[in-house]
Amino acid sequence: MKVELRELIQKIAPSFEQIASYINGEWVVGGQERISVKSSFDKQEIFAYSDANTNIISVLNKCTKLAQSEWRSLTAAERGRRIFKLGAIIRSWIPELAEIESLSSNKALGDAKVEVLKVAEMFEYYAGWTDKLHGDVIAVPTTHLNYTLLEPLGVVFQITPWNAPIFTAGWQIAPAITAGNSVILKPSELTPITSLLIAFLSEQARIPRGLINVVAGYGHTIGQAIINECDIQKVVFVGSPATGKKISIAAAQKGVPSILELGGKSANIVFDDCDYDAALKGAQSAIFSGTGQSCVSGSRVLIQKSIYERFTNDLARATKKFIVGNPIEATTQIAPIHNEKQYQHVKKMIEKALSDGATVPPENANPLPQNTGYIVNPTVLLGHNQMKCAQEEIFGPVVVAIPFETEEEAIALANDSKYGLAGAVWTNNVARAHRIAQKINAGTFWINGYKTIHVSSPFGGYGESGYGRSSGIEALRAYSQVKSVWVETAKQSSNVFGYSG
Ligand code: NAD
Repeated sequence: MKVELRELIQKIAPSFEQIASYINGEWVVGGQERISVKSSFDKQEIFAYSDANTNIISVLNKCTKLAQSEWRSLTAAERGRRIFKLGAIIRSWIPELAEIESLSSNKALGDAKVEVLKVAEMFEYYAGWTDKLHGDVIAVPTTHLNYTLLEPLGVVFQITPWNAPIFTAGWQIAPAITAGNSVILKPSELTPITSLLIAFLSEQARIPRGLINVVAGYGHTIGQAIINECDIQKVVFVGSPATGKKISIAAAQKGVPSILELGGKSANIVFDDCDYDAALKGAQSAIFSGTGQSCVSGSRVLIQKSIYERFTNDLARATKKFIVGNPIEATTQIAPIHNEKQYQHVKKMIEKALSDGATVPPENANPLPQNTGYIVNPTVLLGHNQMKCAQEEIFGPVVVAIPFETEEEAIALANDSKYGLAGAVWTNNVARAHRIAQKINAGTFWINGYKTIHVSSPFGGYGESGYGRSSGIEALRAYSQVKSVWVETAKQSSNVFGYSG
């Protein structure tokens, strides 16, 4: 492991020796198979570790149940205080956690800082919910009183991707423990470190050992084994559509429900009556921030014909102004693509788009510069909606610009996608903006903005972008189950079948 990375980790977790799973409050070293993670900038190894061994399953089965029962024995207010404390501890380590995230997951430092701050906010936000979760009294015939209890599921298994490691970990852990569950989280094998540190720090907030467990290893080995063999009550998956489908099938075969948060091909619609400069800036941040490796990226920009040429030329010109380079340098705006496999995918998608007839405006930066790690420059492809580059997730700083004439055409183009994660419209016509928001098939929609998300607001996909909702109160519902309790209040019992309807 790079010395600077080890020293940073040991500042936060002095007991850290090597990358290992963090289970029941202990570092548990893996088995034989070595996992090596490389820098996307200089291609040197950053760290290596051993895939988790399946012998952790019996430990997980035991500790998660014990911890959950200890957690449930506390008052709701006390659970809230401890969750808030975890948020405060994460907040106190923002600079270090952001550096660790940047160094270990090839993420631009500026993006990492924002994401760690968001994680602190997630725990702080959910902390306030612990003593406000309750069922309802239901209006049934007066022969009965009926009320519901909101109960935790038990043990939940969460699987997260490499593109936003600490963010997706906090996003799922915070509501799960707030609803009273214990957690097994498996981050991407490429980015385990910051998730492990959340589990480690949770003990300083007096969250019981074994409530938050993080398993470091591959999906097809330990991830699959946890689904098959662990006593879990829900699987929550954040990642690619192909893996998500496999996981939902594996969970269903076990009779366990799942939530899938998958990819997207979100349409960012620009009308000629928009605030032009704001829309131009918005279109850049929609696709180029986070190196385009964001599930909600505005990877299709639909532009009204009357401004298509001007807008695409301006967008292409802007691509040369970004600082693209080493993720750990504070000035870097666009990092290299996260890993070699993903780089090859982005490269192939650009090449395919060009062979399908898409073009890159002459003012655009060179999409694929040579000998610079896995760098892909911000790229504008002029194309149409039937091209592969407009239908499949590229997951890089590459936007497909598509012209339209009418509002109806813009809506049809935006909805002509198997995905439905997000979308946006830029217009000064208020009625049109709301009309379009209602007609687009997407779980999140922005008007005259892009990419704003907050832990208090629900998030999830339509279509092949997944099902179930994270964030906000919706996430607490997703991590709870409802019990209906009936009380006989009639002087004489209702009929022998117990049904008075
Ligand atoms: P991926 O599907 O390759 O991997 C995601 C996770 O699944 C990893 O932890 C991996 O180890 C695990 N996994 C793989 N096979 C498994 C198996 N058989 N059993 C259990 N676990 C298994 O995705 P990725 O390449 O890491 O992430 C990129 C994708 O994530 C993109 O498609 C992106 O759009 C999506 N994403 C979606 C959201 C969202 O909220 N909708 C957020 C971030 C990323």
